[in-house]
Amino acid sequence: MTGEIRRWHAELAWLGAGQVQAGVLIEAAGPVLRTVTPGVAPGALPPGTQRLAGLTLPGLANAHSHAFHRALRGVTEQGQGTFWTWRERMYQVAGRLTPDSYLALARAVYAEMALAGVTCVGEFHYLHHGPGGVPYADPNEMGRALLAAAAQAGLRITLLDTCYLSGGLASDGRVEPLAPVQRRFSDRTAERWAERVAALGCDEHGVLAPHARAGAAIHSVRAVPPDQMHPVVAWSHGFGAPLHAHLSEQPAENEASVAAYGLTPAQVLDGAGALGPRSTVVHATHLTRQDIELLGGSRSCACLCPSTEAFLADGIGPAAALAAAGCPLSLGSDSHAVVDLLMEARLVELGERLHSGERGHFGAAALAAAACGAGHACLGWPEAGEVVPGAVADLVTVRLDTPRLAGAATASAASALASVIFAGTAADVSGVVIGGRDVVRDGQHLLVPDVPAALSAAIRPLLS
Ligand SMILES: [Zn+2]
Repeated sequence: MTGEIRRWHAELAWLGAGQVQAGVLIEAAGPVLRTVTPGVAPGALPPGTQRLAGLTLPGLANAHSHAFHRALRGVTEQGQGTFWTWRERMYQVAGRLTPDSYLALARAVYAEMALAGVTCVGEFHYLHHGPGGVPYADPNEMGRALLAAAAQAGLRITLLDTCYLSGGLASDGRVEPLAPVQRRFSDRTAERWAERVAALGCDEHGVLAPHARAGAAIHSVRAVPPDQMHPVVAWSHGFGAPLHAHLSEQPAENEASVAAYGLTPAQVLDGAGALGPRSTVVHATHLTRQDIELLGGSRSCACLCPSTEAFLADGIGPAAALAAAGCPLSLGSDSHAVVDLLMEARLVELGERLHSGERGHFGAAALAAAACGAGHACLGWPEAGEVVPGAVADLVTVRLDTPRLAGAATASAASALASVIFAGTAADVSGVVIGGRDVVRDGQHLLVPDVPAALSAAIRPLLS
């Protein structure tokens, strides 16, 4: 790989596995890391080396995003309500979006993610069509808006193009018709879904552009009947692409699935061939022991979204049991009630503590690995998420001299990663390099100069 040679000297760096190292000289050629050398004294640096103060991490992957949900931050916190009443409000926003307004919103949301250290987003995309379900002139216009938004914000993206066909499953197992706004989500059949996705134009490896790859998603057993899952699964196999699905976020989904099919949602996905090492189940909150064994045995990844699961009162998923059964864990900010992968990481451990009454299920390195390597792998970027030669040149630097992290983190390399994972926030991220290119410097986004203004301008019209 050729390209501009760049060099950084990280005061401290966690390289994606093992211990934090001091004085790490990192060299990239264009978008790829070439050498990584710990223990280099500042006096021995080549000219032009950029100093990175604080703890440098590999890029963070936000493995589950619905960009438009960001518009609802803070406005759904009045009164009580349930997951299902929140969903009604979410549908109101979905009903108003156009390709232009979605581009503006997603660009601002992805810029917020970059400021939080996210280098790659998995966009679980189901808002495909115009009002009433009428396709746009280009039936992938909404998906292309998301790809453009990621490029403009400097992130890599996996567009998890989502099959969404039915309105839900009633508690008695009846398949419900699409509500009016849900018609925008539906291609009507999985074959038509596959035809539309073919028109996205990825190569045989699912590559859409240097910054973008394609993946597939089954929205959930609520939205895709089992006899319609095969074309989606077959598409993902054909391209070696990721396959994602929401799974058992709410007890009501499990009850309806058992009523409809005599099977839990995990069993339905297994029966459709939708589990495996390229598959990711999102939430996986309400599982039977048998479900956990099925997911672990298939080596499916479990993408946990603990802040969203808390905001929506979903429950605390069995993260430790899933990991013990063999599931890699990744992290997503899902509804974007908060965009902070460091917080998502610690909430996995804190949820286990609250649930079990015991500490010490996941250490800082295991939680960081979920945010970095496992997150990228489940989005089909296995060459990202570690700081090693040959990997994608992503570097996320967290300052350790902020009000939140001053103290132990600055005193010891041994405690720096634990301090960042258990006390750091998105606001402590000072620098982000994505594919060898500076995207955030000194806490400022270099491509979207005023991220708050961009968010406000995009969201206000959607709520008025
Ligand atoms: Zn979701």
